Amino acid sequence: AFAITGLGGIAVALLGSLFMANRALIPIKKSWEQQKNFIADASHELRTPLAVIQTNLDIVKSNPNEKVATQTVWLENIEAETKLMTKMVTDMLLLARADSHQLPVHMESFKLNEAAEEVLTPFEPVAVRRGLRLNKKFGQQIDFDGDQTRIKQLIGILIDNAIKYTPAGGEVSLEIHDHPYNIEIIVTDTGEGIEKEHLDKIFERFYRVDKARSRESGGTGLGLSIAEWIVKEHHGTIKVSSSPGAGTTFVVNLPKRK
Ligand code: ADP
Repeated sequence: AFAITGLGGIAVALLGSLFMANRALIPIKKSWEQQKNFIADASHELRTPLAVIQTNLDIVKSNPNEKVATQTVWLENIEAETKLMTKMVTDMLLLARADSHQLPVHMESFKLNEAAEEVLTPFEPVAVRRGLRLNKKFGQQIDFDGDQTRIKQLIGILIDNAIKYTPAGGEVSLEIHDHPYNIEIIVTDTGEGIEKEHLDKIFERFYRVDKARSRESGGTGLGLSIAEWIVKEHHGTIKVSSSPGAGTTFVVNLPKRK
């Protein structure tokens, strides 16, 4: 019961923060409508993991003499849902703060190739486990002026998706091209692809082509919305093209500041 109260508390705090975030936007009716929808969707999204947690808690409580191995399965279900909720709340708070311009962007000069390496390293064992090849194609020295943390987050979101939606035996590649006035980040996979009808919707908050599939892999449906925000903060563009059954490519273009 305590776990529920705690998580419920987080949900209430989140919604409170979304309402606070709204204050700055009240004059803009469209934003207000969007924010209202966001709050409604967010509440709805949080209900699913909460319901699963509640169900598993009920089962644990009503089966006090069940063997430890079985009890552990129920507790692990609770743990998985708690992790998903934590990720959801973190992603939702980021977007709520971004909407109300409460998220500072720290521009600095950094080595993009080194940052990209740091992002890829933790994904290498994941790719191996999933039977995927992880390729990188970028030079030794790419200087870029931007928010290093956010750019790393952006690359992480695209690589994470590419790995999540590519079956074993496939390939995921990260390319970075250094042009005179811009840099280009390209993430390609040989995965399931995205049907045309979904392609322009995947950047929408909470939109998933296959909700169950996304949930199973720990997705929140907010990754690409966050990616889009990061690109916008850097005055860049993000484009996607896909061949269903063959793979998907995301191309990010970011202008150089000087
Ligand atoms: P999620 O947490 O569900 O991955 P995202 O906002 O990152 O949320 O992505 C939205 C949806 O776009 C995903 O649920 C998935 O259906 C689709 N998608 C994103 N990247 C890929 C990809 N590389 N291959 C196929 N589908 C993808």
